[in-house]
Amino acid sequence: MKRFLAALAALLCAQSASADTLIDNVNGYTLDRSGSLVRFAALLVDEDGTVKQLILAKDKKPERPTYRVDGRGRTLIPGLVDAHGHIMRLGLQAVQLDLSDTTTLEEAQSRIAAYATANPTPRWIVGFGWNQEKWGLGRLPTAADIDAVAGDRPVWLERIDNHAGWASSAAMKEAGVGPGATAPEGGRIEKAGKQPSGIFVDAAMALIEKAVPPPLPRTSDQAFLRAQDILLASGLTTVEDMATSVQDWLVMRRAGDRGVLNVRIISYAAGNETALAVAGTGPSSWLYGNRLRMIGVKFYADGALGSRGAWLKQDYLDAPGQRGTPFHNDAELKNLMSRAAMDGFQVAVHAIGDAANRQVLDAIEELASTYSGDRRWRIEHAQIVDAADLPRFAHNGTIASMQPTHATSDWQMAEARLGPDRLGGAYAWATMLANHVPLAFGSDFPVESPNPFAGLAAAITRQDAQSQPPGGWLPGEKISLLQAFGAFTRGAAYAAFEETRLGTLERGRMADFLFIDRDIFAAGVTPQQIRGTQVLETWVGGRKVWQRK
Ligand SMILES: [Zn+2]
Repeated sequence: MKRFLAALAALLCAQSASADTLIDNVNGYTLDRSGSLVRFAALLVDEDGTVKQLILAKDKKPERPTYRVDGRGRTLIPGLVDAHGHIMRLGLQAVQLDLSDTTTLEEAQSRIAAYATANPTPRWIVGFGWNQEKWGLGRLPTAADIDAVAGDRPVWLERIDNHAGWASSAAMKEAGVGPGATAPEGGRIEKAGKQPSGIFVDAAMALIEKAVPPPLPRTSDQAFLRAQDILLASGLTTVEDMATSVQDWLVMRRAGDRGVLNVRIISYAAGNETALAVAGTGPSSWLYGNRLRMIGVKFYADGALGSRGAWLKQDYLDAPGQRGTPFHNDAELKNLMSRAAMDGFQVAVHAIGDAANRQVLDAIEELASTYSGDRRWRIEHAQIVDAADLPRFAHNGTIASMQPTHATSDWQMAEARLGPDRLGGAYAWATMLANHVPLAFGSDFPVESPNPFAGLAAAITRQDAQSQPPGGWLPGEKISLLQAFGAFTRGAAYAAFEETRLGTLERGRMADFLFIDRDIFAAGVTPQQIRGTQVLETWVGGRKVWQRK
């Protein structure tokens, strides 16, 4: 009798626990553990948000699932993972004044006036995107041009290329910038007579930036939700957030506390202090039902190629005598990485130039003997690598965390900065894979669009949205769609120690998936079609969290 009751209880439990959802009638795709494409016809999702069963066309479907969703034959793929982005920067940009589509100064002025009226707080108005060339102005704009429409509000507007800022008179006053102001090295203050005109170039931008108050908590919360909406709409279900600040973390926590955190975030702290302040003595656990965790620390070995901040082994071709500068000497960088590794944090280091990549590879080689085991050292960007250093990525399982759209945005600049002879290891995705280097893809949003389908198209063509350059840039480094898709799913998941739960769809994995408007794996599909893919629905943990209107 006792045994019978126990069996009955088990049966009842099993039944009540099996509130399964059958995502039926889909054109489903996932990669398997070996990176091969698997097709399926339906997906059974457990009520805990994991995949219970992948149902192939030949399989028998469960007879009585608790819920059934009709996929209406649409294409279903795993949610994509961006291995390198900046969520709060994306969000703050999305709530700021955007002047990038203005065609005249007058249009920009009326946009500033409208934004000022619509946003009485915060007092400072911050924006970006202006371009006096596009306005046909024949001069740079001035503080007076803003004052005329924004009165005494402090206003700070970055140029489209981020290399100049345009301030109102009130902004200059609050920043303490007057007739006597001098530009720091690497910067320039435009003058109108003796007065600063309102335009601050490169390093001089900091003179105004230091006076811009940090965003209000309310603005940050709004910005986070805007970013989350953009990410889910782009088809990203997990994002690896690089250089998370304590403030950023608190905004994400507030979203989790309010129950509105839907995208999964794996965070890499902005330096050791931040990691210790947020997570203490090692990676945090997953919070809010596997939505947020801090796993590692992000460091910088150098700057970027555009501003010639990337640290090169040889002089810049277009700036003889310059090689960029390292952010740290060898010992300093090793100490920083060692401090993080000691506490069990994963280490991710930004390295763009070939000298910076060599410095990080050297540091990893040295530290790997002390911090043994599965460490998954990450190099972020790995854009310009000396061909001789490329195989070294594989030595300690170092992950190449790269962004395909950077290559298609940067190629002309990279050629100008380096010349044709030093591009042997530039944005070298195919070589990384050939060397068995774990490859993780992302976008570095908001520097590039977060749209991973643009990333997939860039990865397989080495061409931009206008199909430039013809044949693709350094076409030997093109990779296949399956390889690129792998780097945007299981590769990006592996880069954050999550390959057994994220990136693919199989029993026990998180039910993170998308419905998209076309079959990107169909025979004959073109890169342009892949680039144009629209996400219809985004599901995270077996729940629909975004739908195209
Ligand atoms: Zn970045």
